[in-house]
Amino acid sequence: MLSRKKALQKKREQIIEQKGIICLENVTKSYGSGKPALNGISLNIKKGEFVFIVGASGHGKSTLIKLLLRELVPTDGTVTVMGYDTAKLSHRQIPEFRRNLGVVFQNFRLLSDRNVYENVAFAQRIIEVPPSEIRRSVPTILATVGLAGKYKAKPKQLAGGEQQRVALARAVINKPEILLADEPTGNLDPGNSWEIMKLIEDINKRGTTVVVVTHNREIVNAMQKRVITLKNGVIISDEEEGVYQDED
Ligand code: ADP
Ligand code: MG
Repeated sequence: MLSRKKALQKKREQIIEQKGIICLENVTKSYGSGKPALNGISLNIKKGEFVFIVGASGHGKSTLIKLLLRELVPTDGTVTVMGYDTAKLSHRQIPEFRRNLGVVFQNFRLLSDRNVYENVAFAQRIIEVPPSEIRRSVPTILATVGLAGKYKAKPKQLAGGEQQRVALARAVINKPEILLADEPTGNLDPGNSWEIMKLIEDINKRGTTVVVVTHNREIVNAMQKRVITLKNGVIISDEEEGVYQDED
């Protein structure tokens, strides 16, 4: 006999197999009485994919990311992430759900009064990783993002590209199933943008599913990944090895 927990885990694995690790079915999200931010979109992302979400400002990209994080639930339709219907997650399931999602934002969102080491270690302390393991894993991940020498710096002593590397280290230290990035290079110069995107690509190559919202046409066109374009809350194109569609 499988335990109830194991049985549920098996069911989620079957859903991931059938629908992908991310699945939106006829999803509408309205904030009020006006035109919905997302309007009846459907989408499947398979485990291990790298997907760009593009589109002009105000067309629903961040709303999509918030639905995947379960910061929002849909007004209509279903959002299934890692086999969980996000609208049906119980309070007990939310920490487990969140632990498997890494997230980075345009404005880094680091803790300004803590140093680099503490910013990254914090992600492990809140899920009660043993201190001995934290002392091992934080330096390893900081070396991976090229910040081995900057443990003690506070965020404001770092350049933007370095701050985003800290945010990325924090997002992936718990080995999430999915990494979500909402305009991660929006505040960076072209050189740092490329370096951050290459790090995200490396994370994807090690097995993490990646969804990146971006306005960086050059990077999207060069990287030859799947590109989904949102316009007025609907998907107007979804292409493997796609390019950045023109904005108007
Ligand atoms: P994007 O990330 O593509 O710029 P958003 O998903 O942030 O777009 O926004 C899509 C639409 O939803 C916009 O019209 C925006 O004004 C609206 N919107 C976003 N967040 C809220 C909110 N919290 N309350 C009301 N309207 C919102
Ligand atoms: Mg946005």
